[in-house]
Amino acid sequence: MGKIQQLDDLLSNKIAAGEVVERPASIVKELVENSIDANSSRIDIEVDEGGLSRIEIIDNGDGIESDDLLTAFQRHATSKIKHENDLFHIRTLGFRGEALPSIASVSKVEVKTCTGAGAGDELSIQFGKVIDQKKSDSRKGTSIEVTQLFHNTPARLKHLKTVHTELGNITDVVNRQAMAHPDVAFHLKHNGKTVLRTAGNGDLLQVIAGIYGMSVAKKMLKVKKDTLDYSISGFTAKPEITRASRQYVSLFINGRYIKNFAIYKAIERAYHTLLPIGRHPIVILSIELDPILVDVNVHPGKLEARFSKEQELTKAVEDGVAEVLRHTELIPSALNPKQQSIQKLKSEQPSFQFASYLPETDNKMKLDEKNGSTGRDPIEHVEEPRTGNTVQSSNEPTHTKDRYEYRQEKQPEQQEPELAPDLDPKEGAPSSRVPPMYPVGQVHGTYIVAQNEQGMYIIDQHAAQERIKYEFYREKVGEFEHEVQELLVPLTFEFTHTEAQVIEAHQDELASIGIFLEPFGGNTFIVRSHPQWFPSGEEQETIQEIIDQILSEKKTDLKKLREDAAIMMSCKGSIKANRHLKNDEMIALIETLRKAGDPFTCPHGRPIIIKFTTYEMEKMFKRVM
Ligand code: ADP
Ligand code: MG
Repeated sequence: MGKIQQLDDLLSNKIAAGEVVERPASIVKELVENSIDANSSRIDIEVDEGGLSRIEIIDNGDGIESDDLLTAFQRHATSKIKHENDLFHIRTLGFRGEALPSIASVSKVEVKTCTGAGAGDELSIQFGKVIDQKKSDSRKGTSIEVTQLFHNTPARLKHLKTVHTELGNITDVVNRQAMAHPDVAFHLKHNGKTVLRTAGNGDLLQVIAGIYGMSVAKKMLKVKKDTLDYSISGFTAKPEITRASRQYVSLFINGRYIKNFAIYKAIERAYHTLLPIGRHPIVILSIELDPILVDVNVHPGKLEARFSKEQELTKAVEDGVAEVLRHTELIPSALNPKQQSIQKLKSEQPSFQFASYLPETDNKMKLDEKNGSTGRDPIEHVEEPRTGNTVQSSNEPTHTKDRYEYRQEKQPEQQEPELAPDLDPKEGAPSSRVPPMYPVGQVHGTYIVAQNEQGMYIIDQHAAQERIKYEFYREKVGEFEHEVQELLVPLTFEFTHTEAQVIEAHQDELASIGIFLEPFGGNTFIVRSHPQWFPSGEEQETIQEIIDQILSEKKTDLKKLREDAAIMMSCKGSIKANRHLKNDEMIALIETLRKAGDPFTCPHGRPIIIKFTTYEMEKMFKRVM
């Protein structure tokens, strides 16, 4: 007799549960997804002790018909796909029919559901066995309560982390669902206390405020980009607020949260040198596309996706984010750093602690509910791109009275130069996002203080020089150079045998940035000339460092090589010691900076310029309240 036999349902469900329901947060994810698929407009999530002792999801969706209720708990039972072909047109979050049977095999599940027509049904299942079934009331929707989680699989139970960690994971799951579905009202409660509450009025910015706090929401820029195949929309943070991890980049594909390295990279390219090294932006992007272009069935948790036109997508994301960043005045207010460090502290803690922001949002929403005006936008001042040419124009009806008044009362300084920057006739883009300003003096040989009607500015002159030089070198590196500087005595470079081989293989790339290495016997090379614009006096060092880049990273990415070379040269060329600047030197520096492509940060992402608006100063000195 053979040894192979078909596993019974209970056993195979338990095995599947290993993948689908790893921890309380995955149960919350599956159940909330089911509620969204059932067209719910309101979803309440109650968890106790990090979900370890109880999870309950209550929705107002379509409900499950009496005849379907037991079937829903069968393995591979789903109402979402019927034919093989449907797999390529998935619009729902679920489709595998695994969640309910898996969850029911490792816990006690109490379901109450009603379609709204007639009486509802109640079903209890414990570790995969039906223990009770009866009729119930007729509230439309479904509630599913999960208790005794993993009590029949002690090894799994032992693997769970602290209440704190599990709650953190659950909060992440609910936050993402709330950002993906701003038109659904979510209410997450832990041990009876509200952790997140959204209005479900479709206002994503309001959801962001509830999750990351009002001060972050105020610094979000609206992104909108459409291509033939993709429609991208969402928000991206001003570079002045950053985070230590990519956790704060949330991507949604047709309402599903996914992780995608290529898209992360595209976003980082858009920020380019605007972010300090090792820091990441806060970004929430929804991407709508024909489901035929994406395969979501490549990961058990459906956390990854494969795109058939990935390049078109990443380019659209990069352009969409870059456009808004390139059209916004990004000078941070001087009063921010303090706020920022507080924010940074908060943000580095597990995300559910954002609940500390909640009373504000929560009360606000309760107020709104009372007033019957849930559609109101609580964010008074949202930055939007100031030109309507290449990016999303700001003529949306979102300029509520609040916001208008805010601009009127609190930002009286936002006048001419900022709102109507000089336009470059060719590009239709503003030729400078830094308004004209005039130096008042210099502090410690390091900072230039400048002013205009809008307020006072402090410019880090070294950072400014670095940015200006960087943009100069970035242009130059890679340009074909007619004028070279012949050297009287050639520069000599010696390498190990392996290094020499790597270098020989990359000679073309070096030549393309103006470095012509000639073999000089053994592992020695010489250089007889260099481009005229090389940082003078530091040629040997400059060339050595570029070669070192190739050696250390074996770079073949020419763009990156040029980029790094330009950054390195800009550091070299900049004055290191503090230096007194004459008035006309300061004027010249400011004017050159205004012409820079990215005048707000040095190539390493540090700020160049900060401002105190006239209003902020008046407030500090209590001239206005
Ligand atoms: P899937 O979501 O992949 O279809 P599940 O096991 O999660 O599989 O759910 C099985 C079926 O139960 C779903 O296809 C759906 O018809 C029904 N169902 C589950 N949860 C709900 C809910 N909250 N409201 C209405 N129907 C539900
Ligand atoms: Mg499901």
